[in-house]
Amino acid sequence: MESEVVIVGGGLVGGSLAAALADAGVPVTLVDAGTAPPSAVSQPAGTEFDRRVFAIRPAGRQFLERCGIWRHIDESRVAPVTRMVVTGDDGVSRLNFDAYRSGIAELAVIVENTALQAAVKQALGERILVNRLDGRRCEALGWSDAAVRVCLDDGEQIDVQLVVGADGANSRVRELAGIPISESAYGHSAVVANFETTVGHDGTAWQWFRRDGVLALLPLPGKRVSMVWSTQQSNADELIALEIGELAERVSEASNAVLGELVATTSAAAFPLRLMKAASITGTRLALVGDAAHNVHPLAGQGLNLGLADASSLASAIDARGPDEIGSSAVLARYRRSRAEEIMAMQLTTDGLHRLFQSSAPGVAWLRNTGLRLTERLSPLKRVLVKHATG
Ligand SMILES: Cc1cc2nc3c(=O)[nH]c(=O)nc-3n(C[C@H](O)[C@H](O)[C@H](O)COP(=O)(O)OP(=O)(O)OC[C@H]3O[C@@H](n4cnc5c(N)ncnc54)[C@H](O)[C@@H]3O)c2cc1C
Repeated sequence: MESEVVIVGGGLVGGSLAAALADAGVPVTLVDAGTAPPSAVSQPAGTEFDRRVFAIRPAGRQFLERCGIWRHIDESRVAPVTRMVVTGDDGVSRLNFDAYRSGIAELAVIVENTALQAAVKQALGERILVNRLDGRRCEALGWSDAAVRVCLDDGEQIDVQLVVGADGANSRVRELAGIPISESAYGHSAVVANFETTVGHDGTAWQWFRRDGVLALLPLPGKRVSMVWSTQQSNADELIALEIGELAERVSEASNAVLGELVATTSAAAFPLRLMKAASITGTRLALVGDAAHNVHPLAGQGLNLGLADASSLASAIDARGPDEIGSSAVLARYRRSRAEEIMAMQLTTDGLHRLFQSSAPGVAWLRNTGLRLTERLSPLKRVLVKHATG
């Protein structure tokens, strides 16, 4: 069947969009530069947890359920977050979020990258409307009145109504469409590693705002946690160079030993951070989704969630197109409008918090810690924050 849409980038966002479009009856070609991830969905018992994990909020999980991806996830390797404790850089100001008090089952779930990638592959394999081309790159795009031509690195050319750039932060599709970006490097990297703990986490995600960045310990099944420490590059380099016993000691000290003694079960890896926003998430017969459209600081664990919401919104705009063509400006305008507010709000919030806690200006330390304490006392405000973070 001839494809009507080409999605460039078969990561979690592009892959889930392909599944959602196929379910709406739209034939799709999914092109990815990498090789397909293994399709083994259940990891053998005792397999170490992936140090790349995601906090997926309820809305993101519901979308993954709707497009048949979540049912391939082994729930025994997923941890619900039922409580979140945020501590200010004075070490005493705290903000607590509780799923039970907010009337929801969980604030988020923590799931491994490898498990999600494998589940996406499994779901796509079940859909005859998805034509998957792995190990191929999009090299050029060309436009005519009726179509956009996607040129791949092996010479194949595909004419479709819409091309979607789901090809990550350094998107080639975005570049070929001439869509400018605004960006700033934070000079920080996120260091990730997993640990076993002697004290149970009880479903709590811990976060410490520190002068050198933000440290988060996210619950994994059993007495395990996954660390994301977003910190100045020099500190990140130092953490990466530590022997794993020293790393555990350093993290235990930075987390005030709330989870007892830590034993590192993986080495550390670092990911450079930047703030990036594309000037537009649409072009002629073209849409951007996920990291190709925006990068946010991982302190709120929202980058993938934003991308899944992009995929969900674009699939809905296409599904509700009526007499409009898939790549028409009307459909793309609906997609653009539906995403503008959330993308801007998330970028302002994560960037604002990062700046607030990095500032050494007089009075700012008092302001940020007092802000945490005041928010803690204002139940209605906390309810609004939980609604935004989970919805
Ligand atoms: C340390 C860290 C922790 C994070 N934690 C969270 C979290 O808890 N929750 C959350 O929501 N987000 C989190 N994020 C953000 C999240 O990782 C990203 O937002 C998300 O992975 C982006 O997915 P994507 O599919 O848009 O892009 P990518 O995962 O980058 O996928 C892009 C795909 O495009 C392919 N590609 C690239 N170029 C081409 C080309 N020319 N032709 C064909 N294919 C191409 C690549 O092979 C790749 O498969 C975190 C980020 C970091 C760094």
